[in-house]
Amino acid sequence: TQRLTGKTALITAAGQGIGRAIAEMFAKQGASVIATDINERALAELKGCSTRRLDVRNLADIAAVTKDVGAVDVLVNCAGIVANGSILDSTEEDWATSFDINVTSMFRLIRATLPGMLERGGGSVINISSVASSIKGVPNRCIYGATKAAIIGLTKSVAADFISRGIRCNAICPGTVATPSLDARLRATGDYAAAKAAFIQRQPMGRLGEACEVAALAVYLASDESAFTTGQCHIIDGGWTN
Ligand code: NAD
Repeated sequence: TQRLTGKTALITAAGQGIGRAIAEMFAKQGASVIATDINERALAELKGCSTRRLDVRNLADIAAVTKDVGAVDVLVNCAGIVANGSILDSTEEDWATSFDINVTSMFRLIRATLPGMLERGGGSVINISSVASSIKGVPNRCIYGATKAAIIGLTKSVAADFISRGIRCNAICPGTVATPSLDARLRATGDYAAAKAAFIQRQPMGRLGEACEVAALAVYLASDESAFTTGQCHIIDGGWTN
């Protein structure tokens, strides 16, 4: 049986990586999926989803898509970028850009979709954070960790404010997951093999996570199976923070 039959889900950054895996698994589970990204070519490869260009930095894009789509049952906020470095490597501009894409995007999308969920009497918001947040200090992830911690605060606040009105809001906190952007970061080090080995070295399971493993958790949080959980950080990190 399909676990998301009858649900409509809006997903940001669904072009590749974790967002794409979530879009595909939601569609397989019977959801009506609106997959969005700035990369329309990547969206075109998605099967079983309707697709829309949506830049999470652009309020007009968000207003247009949410108006066209109408009320949704599930919102997955997946858009996020990684800024490398310690605080001394970081500029005000890097800080502002990362907060805009990683955090303010979620503020905007929740504000845009929550009224429709409330009208329907319920909804599930899933925000993709990271263990590199308030959960764990990770070297050279200063701005990134600050944004991902902010997402946890936002998640808990939304959960608390709307708990009596059928809205659940949870954060997924992945460890290191094999995705195109991780691959690009490994290549950018100049020594792909060594960088990959170092990432795997810090994994107690001896491997990176797969995007579909995160997507399986998102299916659970989107479905009514998870009706009793809200305001939580769901860690999926191969035991990294254990
Ligand atoms: P990715 O970085 O490979 O892909 C990101 C996608 O976001 C791309 O398709 C890109 O086009 C899109 N995007 C970028 N800017 C956008 C914008 N302004 N508006 C809309 N879309 C935009 O994906 P990933 O590595 O799977 O990461 C997805 C999320 O998961 C991010 O929030 C990331 O921080 C989080 N995360 C990833 C890992 C990991 O190891 N990969 C670990 C923890 C958390």
